[in-house]
Amino acid sequence: PYNGPSSSDLLKRRKQYLPTFVGTYYTHPLNLVEGKMQYLYDENGRRYLDAFGGIATVSCGHCHPHVVEAIVNQIRLLQHTTVLYLNHAVVDFAEALAAKMPGELKVVFFTNSGTEANELALMMARLYTGYHDVISIRNGYHGNATSTMGATAQFFHKFNVVQTGIHHVLNPDPYRGVFGLDGAKYAHDVQDIVNYGTCGHVAGFVAEAIQGVGGVIELAPGYLPAVYSIIKKAGGLFISDEVQSGFGRTGSHFWGFEAHGIVPDIVTMAKGIGNGAPIGAVVTTPEIAKVLKYAYYFSTFGGNPVCTAAGLAVLNVIEQDKLQQNAYVVGSYLKDRLNSLMEKHEIIGDVRGRGMLLGVELVKDRKLKTPAKDEIVQIHEQMKDMGVLLGKGGFYRNVLRITPPLCFTKEDADFLVDVMDYTMSKM
Ligand code: PMP
Repeated sequence: PYNGPSSSDLLKRRKQYLPTFVGTYYTHPLNLVEGKMQYLYDENGRRYLDAFGGIATVSCGHCHPHVVEAIVNQIRLLQHTTVLYLNHAVVDFAEALAAKMPGELKVVFFTNSGTEANELALMMARLYTGYHDVISIRNGYHGNATSTMGATAQFFHKFNVVQTGIHHVLNPDPYRGVFGLDGAKYAHDVQDIVNYGTCGHVAGFVAEAIQGVGGVIELAPGYLPAVYSIIKKAGGLFISDEVQSGFGRTGSHFWGFEAHGIVPDIVTMAKGIGNGAPIGAVVTTPEIAKVLKYAYYFSTFGGNPVCTAAGLAVLNVIEQDKLQQNAYVVGSYLKDRLNSLMEKHEIIGDVRGRGMLLGVELVKDRKLKTPAKDEIVQIHEQMKDMGVLLGKGGFYRNVLRITPPLCFTKEDADFLVDVMDYTMSKM
């Protein structure tokens, strides 16, 4: 039984000492004390089905026994900086990660977060190409340090910092974008930016294969391959941000970019890589990696043995528990059920995503696509009260984000949809 402080006490103190903490996700926030696979438990022992997985962070399941064991075994042995000495946990994971990558993507740099991974990727692209300009997509999210905040293109994730050399292109958003599903047309905007906004050469292009924070937006078909050739002609590197779409989450593929038929020059990852352990990584080719030899890339805890032990366990669990296949089978089933729900509830404007990276966009009017901003707050809160945790996001904050631990079952999917159905019926 939980003997800690009450949620009202915690909330009061959090407001005092952590005031910039992302507000209160719920009007009545949860005090979570335990997690087990796809379930979370509050201070009263009440169970919640976690369909958000700590923002796509929990790949294997909360406190998956295999991952916990790997962490505990390693932390008992050694927790140290990785940079100055040899340690097998670090090398073993780097090797296993490289084996999951196509082509020449065989060199790994570890970081502590997704932000750091993307900062490093952008720096490498600039060093390697000798150019400075970077292109990213409107509505994308890439991190909260200077360059990555520049690449992030939503005002509520930006301070007024100096951001030179970052250009945001049209979002190839099939639902709200001006060209609908025509990926090639959106790609023209990338060419325009190269032509009119740069010297004709760029350091690189960075994109998520599916925008997560931006509201689970799948890029229009044909967009990324078209952009790839534009960027190559402009001398730039293609960076795939797999922080949310990697590690089997999309079901059909291990990495999100694979569904677009391209092989990036640099891949960045975090979140699901450690099932909750703080680790990120940049994977690139030996040729590009050479640019970091001119100086010394150093991160005290980036890829420490405990987090890399977690990472290796995660790869093993994804394989053993067939989690990518599960993301495909259960994710497709869940998406089908959500699509059926759309026939019943006018408020659902769009259902999208792949595998276990799904979004449900809520609108007041299907033709005008007016964001149902108030309704989503109610639905989100009421579903929590009925035991289902979902994410909330998108530029208009009107998208329910579904990114559960990949061990989510069909029964869980049914429960989620039934609770959503009930909640929407009551509106
Ligand atoms: N890229 C993407 C696609 C993300 O979703 C996030 C986090 N929401 C980041 C980068 C930044 O990761 P972190 O919060 O670990 O710095």
